[in-house]
Amino acid sequence: MQKKELLKSIPAVNDFLAAPEAEEIIDEYSRDKFLQLLRKELDNIRSEILSSDFEVDNFNLNHLNVKYIINNIEKKLKIKSEAGLKKVINASGVIVHTNLGRSNLAAEALKKVLEIAENYSTLEFDLEKGERGYRYNKVKELLKDLTGAESAVVVNNNAAAVMLVLTALVQRKEVIIARGEMVEIGGSFRIPEVMENSGALLQEVGSTNRVYSADYVNDINENTGALIKVHTSNYRVQGFTHTVSSKELAETAHSHQLPLIEDLGSGILFDLSDYGLPYEPTVKEKIEAGIDVLTFSGDKLLGGPQAGIIAGKEQYISQIETHPLMRALRVDKMTLAALEETLKLYYDFEKAVKRIPTLNLITESSEVVKKRALKLESKINKKDAFKVELIKTAAKIGGGAYPLNKFDSYGLKLSLEQKSTEAFISELRKFETPVIARIQADKAIFDLKTVKDEEIELLADSINQVLAEVF
Ligand SMILES: *Cc1c(COP(=O)(O)O)cnc(C)c1O
Repeated sequence: MQKKELLKSIPAVNDFLAAPEAEEIIDEYSRDKFLQLLRKELDNIRSEILSSDFEVDNFNLNHLNVKYIINNIEKKLKIKSEAGLKKVINASGVIVHTNLGRSNLAAEALKKVLEIAENYSTLEFDLEKGERGYRYNKVKELLKDLTGAESAVVVNNNAAAVMLVLTALVQRKEVIIARGEMVEIGGSFRIPEVMENSGALLQEVGSTNRVYSADYVNDINENTGALIKVHTSNYRVQGFTHTVSSKELAETAHSHQLPLIEDLGSGILFDLSDYGLPYEPTVKEKIEAGIDVLTFSGDKLLGGPQAGIIAGKEQYISQIETHPLMRALRVDKMTLAALEETLKLYYDFEKAVKRIPTLNLITESSEVVKKRALKLESKINKKDAFKVELIKTAAKIGGGAYPLNKFDSYGLKLSLEQKSTEAFISELRKFETPVIARIQADKAIFDLKTVKDEEIELLADSINQVLAEVF
């Protein structure tokens, strides 16, 4: 067959519309969407035939078959309609994985979200007075109890919290920050840029590795609005270093009638060193140290929904709450429902550790993880062509918390010998429930720290399916 004949053999749009298979697809996805993809498909076939390096012998004659083309269109429509948020199996071993949605919510929080999202609620209604109420009353009370702060309020995320605090308290004034704390958190969130966008003027002091309270004092002038301390979440300067403690810096700020703001990043409500983690001050201890305004995330170590929590002295919090930007950054009822229920669990730390998934994973013993890894291993269909090994891994918290801390964990290592590990891992991402694993020294690693017991069956099925296709 020659090019000309092939071109003539391309079916016409009407041939497709007459096919019963097309009718079903149109019913499901709409005629417009079907026709749009069909025209594209036909154009591609035409261009293929017309291209200068076209060889008739290499041409796939299916490309002239109505059913085949319709089937292709259906696949594409399906992929398109399924795009968007999806559950994944996180086999990365990173517990608070920013790209995979950070913290999973506790069952109590989920239940409340469902109830509040499905029904009218008391979001801004005072039942006693029968009139308008305040959205943040309950969460304020919970946060006051749990942190010892005079007041608290919540916004969309911690970046918003930092922005709002500076906008409300230090507008057109200078805020003094240690040079070593001008950090980039990731996802192009740079503390200095957020701060500058708030309208505050940044005044850097100290050197990258050392800063003293005298450095801050030297720079305080009549245009200074606040001092700020930023938790260098995702990195540590080690060796010849000096920083000023929150307590000392609070005293310095107060002796000059200035507030001290601290961006904690993660923020913990109780001491996790009881569970084998290095000591980090809790939010309560920071408040006791004299910090005037503290900010931290709701979905990092706290294990709740995405939110930025602002806690501190009443005089500053009320200024922040009444700032017009507050309205633009306020949280919705689902976030509030999830956060309130998560915070309620913290009244009993043991309960919090059991019920809040992020805390549960952080404190879980590696022997429990080993059991999951062994269970997965037992379900992999072994063959000589590849090797499966149970290995010790180092899981991480992620989300910028405890950057140097690794957890003893267990996982499986798959050595594919001649085959591409990259291709294997990418096939695993194509399932309806994609699997996110990592590559280390050209081996596929599945860290079981972040894989739930009830996901093992599906994970094994997916791995087996790809292995069967490859070998
Ligand atoms: C993570 C982090 C932020 C940003 O918090 P989001 O909740 O992601 O907006 C800000 N500051 C520090 C120190 C952080 O670790």
